Amino acid sequence: MDIANVNPVALTALAIGLIGLVCGAALALAARFLAVHEDPRIGQVADILPGANCGGCAYAGCADYAKAIVLNDAAINLCAPGGQEVLDKLCAFLGKTAEAAEKKTAIVLCGGDSGKAPRRFAYNGVADCAAAQAVHGGDKRCGYGCLGYGSCARICPAGAIEIANGLAKVHKNLCIGCGACVKACPRTLIQMIPVSRTIHVLCRSRDKGPVVKKACSVGCIGCTRCAKIADDGQIAMDGPLAVVDYAKPFDNEEAVEKCPTHCIVRA
Ligand code: SF4
Ligand code: SF4
Repeated sequence: MDIANVNPVALTALAIGLIGLVCGAALALAARFLAVHEDPRIGQVADILPGANCGGCAYAGCADYAKAIVLNDAAINLCAPGGQEVLDKLCAFLGKTAEAAEKKTAIVLCGGDSGKAPRRFAYNGVADCAAAQAVHGGDKRCGYGCLGYGSCARICPAGAIEIANGLAKVHKNLCIGCGACVKACPRTLIQMIPVSRTIHVLCRSRDKGPVVKKACSVGCIGCTRCAKIADDGQIAMDGPLAVVDYAKPFDNEEAVEKCPTHCIVRA
């Protein structure tokens, strides 16, 4: 057959068909020989995890944590939102045993709402705590207290943080312990603590007593009364500030009653 007499449209179609055939075969071979086979248990473990993708386990999300469990033998009791139920399922699926860590909750270590801790100036910028902090170090007279613009509340996947009268407050019963709010607070006021702890010093001010008094009516003035009552270090002075050691159980109401500024609370 003289190629010069062949219909050019048919020739083009034939060429395209041949190229498609070769590429298809190459792709099929690549899929056959270069495929990465993922351990099917990764997907199964990911299905057991709650899918909150909160990062509280210190992995990028549930899929990443599932991969670490299956491939790197990561601890299986790191999922706070999943709690005991998820841990039981993981134990059954993987044939392991593990004790659940005590559930944790976030707490905002500040009690200075708008009535107790005045503002130095009127901040009219975006309602974001980092943005407010960037303007002259924040509008609150206390340089350590909650700014109240709700960056923590906005990031909370459980709706557990309420902003009331310029102060953030965590509702323990709603908190899933993911820790997302901790990173969101530019004043590092949020701490994760065992849910069984009920006595707190709601202040993080490093100022001395007279300065604290001018900035907030419920700040810690460093009088040391609580530290003397909690004589096993459950509350200890860190410079001018009383700090609870949440690793040590403590339930002495006297510390709450004797605090002259009422910055120690039961909650
Ligand atoms: S308050 Fe919200 S963001 Fe903070 S640990 Fe609890 S659930 Fe997570
Ligand atoms: S706790 Fe921190 S992030 Fe939350 S409102 Fe107060 S300053 Fe803002």
